Amino acid sequence: MCGVVGVISSPERIDVHNVSVDGELAAAGLCGMTHLPTGRVCVRPARHLGSCDFVAPEAARAGLRGDAAARRQSAPTW
Ligand SMILES: [Zn+2]
Repeated sequence: MCGVVGVISSPERIDVHNVSVDGELAAAGLCGMTHLPTGRVCVRPARHLGSCDFVAPEAARAGLRGDAAARRQSAPTW
């Protein structure tokens, strides 16, 4: 055995620590990929298929707040 264990066992998303991913959106289960030249962020679900759908960060956060409130009501398990 090489002795290196436990490194990949965390359920935490590794890509959240990438500077090009918005941590707040990623924590909410969204893609959060940031288009660095414009600062716009992707609001599609995490690991979505196809290309990112970038929107203004203000709009993303506004949607995030509404989304989170809606999810708390419809899915209390997370
Ligand atoms: Zn995306």
